[in-house]
Amino acid sequence: MNTHELTSVQIKKNILSGDMSAKSVTAEFFSRVEKSDTEIGAYLSLNKEMALKKADEVDKKIKAGAHVGLLAGVPIAVKDNICVADSITTCASKILANYRSPYDAHVIERINDEDGIVIGKTNLDEFAMGSSTEHSAFKITKNPWDLDYVPGGSSGGSAAAIAADMAAVALGSDTGGSVRQPAAFCGVVGLKPTYGRVSRYGMVAFGSSLDQIGTLSKDVADSSLLLQAIANYDKRDSTCVNLEIPDYISQLESLDPGISIGVPKEYFAEGLKDEVRKAVDTGLDIYKKLGAKIVEISLPHTEYAVAAYYIIATAEASSNLSRYDGVRYGFRSQQSSGILKMYEATRSEGFGDEVKRRIMMGNYVLSAGHYDAYYLKASKVRTLIKSDFDSAFEKVDCIICPTSPVPAYKVNEKSSDPLEMYLSDVYTIPANLAGIPGISVPCGLTSDGLPIGMQILGKHFDELKILQIARLFEKELNFNAVKPKLDFTKE
Ligand code: GLN
Repeated sequence: MNTHELTSVQIKKNILSGDMSAKSVTAEFFSRVEKSDTEIGAYLSLNKEMALKKADEVDKKIKAGAHVGLLAGVPIAVKDNICVADSITTCASKILANYRSPYDAHVIERINDEDGIVIGKTNLDEFAMGSSTEHSAFKITKNPWDLDYVPGGSSGGSAAAIAADMAAVALGSDTGGSVRQPAAFCGVVGLKPTYGRVSRYGMVAFGSSLDQIGTLSKDVADSSLLLQAIANYDKRDSTCVNLEIPDYISQLESLDPGISIGVPKEYFAEGLKDEVRKAVDTGLDIYKKLGAKIVEISLPHTEYAVAAYYIIATAEASSNLSRYDGVRYGFRSQQSSGILKMYEATRSEGFGDEVKRRIMMGNYVLSAGHYDAYYLKASKVRTLIKSDFDSAFEKVDCIICPTSPVPAYKVNEKSSDPLEMYLSDVYTIPANLAGIPGISVPCGLTSDGLPIGMQILGKHFDELKILQIARLFEKELNFNAVKPKLDFTKE
């Protein structure tokens, strides 16, 4: 097996045993990226010098018999809305094209402390607004399973990097599904932890009451490893909760499969592609065979989730994005006949169409006379959605449903119809509104050979359980043995 095909757990083991050096692993991943990324377009920038230096330090520590961290020598890709000190953080926007972050995000500090190697920054929809990575100001990322298709979004670069073996694990962000949906489209594992489990200090805000940093990986053990490293109380994010963090790694295999699984009837309704339904049904059969009980449940307010999300997320985005005014960050328009004109020209030239659309919607729903009708109403719907989940979790250990009603679609197929794209977030958005954790695991392929994702949702702070449940399934299906055929990267 080639080094780039190994999981993080395997890479770490080889490095600790002295069979591989962190430096040779890092160099191997860079050559893999050089070979494959011209076609796929997962990365916006690479941190070659910094990464090789860090790898060298890790090797020296190991040689000296010093303590090494959880992620010793693991090559990691980072979505480009998470700050890495002294490197560019663009959020795939022209407005931040030259923004150099003066500090590390908390998750990057954790990766550094645990001896992980950040190899580069990945593409996304501008400011994480989108579901296909087509809204990047810089380039379109392609789905490694078929280059005519989108990788999903907004963490499409991170998902594609994992699917094409261009990083061992990756960080993404999930405001309405942006880790789980691209994971489903690219046939990898995507975990969105509970709101509050991982500090967002240093992640560029989109919808602050929904945003959460998550992981993309080849398998469930790697998600557990990366979550173990980044889940950590941090008082610089006031929403980060100081709760004991379980040992995700050592307890991963210790769940008795006699669990009860809730299957929400609202998630198997109109709009769900037949092939997706079949793949998820087959997944449920696997659990049944293992001894799980399948219970039909109802989450009655699901149909209002997309509408509520696109009010709340745009309202928060319009406020968060007001800081990009040409004064404090990045790009400034050359038209500077007075400060107001400069603000206007900077924002008109610096933001793409989708971001402008969201800012306009957000300002509209927050404006006087509309606030009660939209924002307040949406917040009430949000509470109802959360209580739907609360009552369901009184009866079941987890909820299983499709991650997305459709598999990956073709580049440009939906980009001219924003509403259609918004509606396809229907199965991922409710978890963000409720703040609960969710994981997407691959559960099959379509007849066109594109991956399908199955989503497992859990109670607040029950990441361990959904990881364990995902692991049970993965062991049976062994999907990670199935790989995209990348002809242009044949060794
Ligand atoms: N697709 C959703 C949106 O466009 C979710 C994005 C995300 O989770 N960052 O808002």
